[in-house]
Amino acid sequence: MDYKQISFEMRLADTDADATAQMLLDKATEAARRAYAPYSRFRVGAAALLSDGTVVTGNNQENAAYPSGLCAERVTVFYANSRYPDTAITHLLIVAETDEGLLRQPVTPCGACRQVLIETEKRQASPIRIYLAGRDTVWCIASAAELMPLSFVPESLVNQ
Ligand SMILES: [Zn+2]
Repeated sequence: MDYKQISFEMRLADTDADATAQMLLDKATEAARRAYAPYSRFRVGAAALLSDGTVVTGNNQENAAYPSGLCAERVTVFYANSRYPDTAITHLLIVAETDEGLLRQPVTPCGACRQVLIETEKRQASPIRIYLAGRDTVWCIASAAELMPLSFVPESLVNQ
């Protein structure tokens, strides 16, 4: 058996002057305020920009049976893919707030959402630029694939 140590470095960019990020931040913040999060009181909003200019937003939807709820990112991406299956998502911004207001640091998607984002990129054959927004900082990531190296992908189902 051959073991190799590997490491990954996420590329971050300054997005202060990025009008798309600001527009999506406004939409995602509005969406976060509409979240159904009575248990965690951690309200997440997401806004996706599609290649035709359409913006789709979503938020987390919790449930008393906790695992039945769904994250804002997947609500947004699944809605976009169900309503506009042939239109690529080009950008996705995620933001979160508590009762004390927007999080200072960027919020990061859970592993399950990363999995869905990566398959969405593969499905549409183009990257999704991800903005992870906090009150003080926005991280910009060129592709969802960078969020989860060595992810399980459709090709993983084939015995190679
Ligand atoms: Zn998630």
